[in-house]
Amino acid sequence: MRIQVSQISEEDGLRIEHKYPEGQPELDSPDHEIAGQPVVIAFAERGGAKVELSGTIEATIRFNCDRCLEPVALNVDEHFDLFYIPSSQPEGSKDETELTEGDLTVSFYTDGAIDIDDVVREQIELELPMSKLCGEQCRGLCPQCGSNRNQVKCSCLTTAVDPRFAALRDLNA
Ligand SMILES: [Zn+2]
Ligand SMILES: [Zn+2]
Repeated sequence: MRIQVSQISEEDGLRIEHKYPEGQPELDSPDHEIAGQPVVIAFAERGGAKVELSGTIEATIRFNCDRCLEPVALNVDEHFDLFYIPSSQPEGSKDETELTEGDLTVSFYTDGAIDIDDVVREQIELELPMSKLCGEQCRGLCPQCGSNRNQVKCSCLTTAVDPRFAALRDLNA
């Protein structure tokens, strides 16, 4: 979804509320996908060609645990505050913008429109965890029989010796 900057009233701003179809927008990350219907609610304010866009994104992300391979659902509820200027703005005026806008990150829009899908995608990707685990305590799959050790206690475990116990056994010998 793209919003035309000219649609944003300089007096009243523009309220944006959008519910995506299932699984949209597609993420750049190949290991994560969107489950359900993400919702973005935002408010755009405009002063000349400058736009401030703030709002929230709610989505559910799905990925597979790296250890046990089970699907994991992660809820994302992300607030954002973005500042836009047109990409055609001359170099010199950028410094001025950064000075007046403090530490807000400045993004650029092209062809007079802001792509909300890009905003949603970027904000969700910022929230993706570094490790893809169902939980810190995930015991993963048994390397011998392949069963999920979070769910099944297989007997293969007895043959694998913890190195600390191995050291003790050598001491006792
Ligand atoms: Zn797991
Ligand atoms: Zn096993």
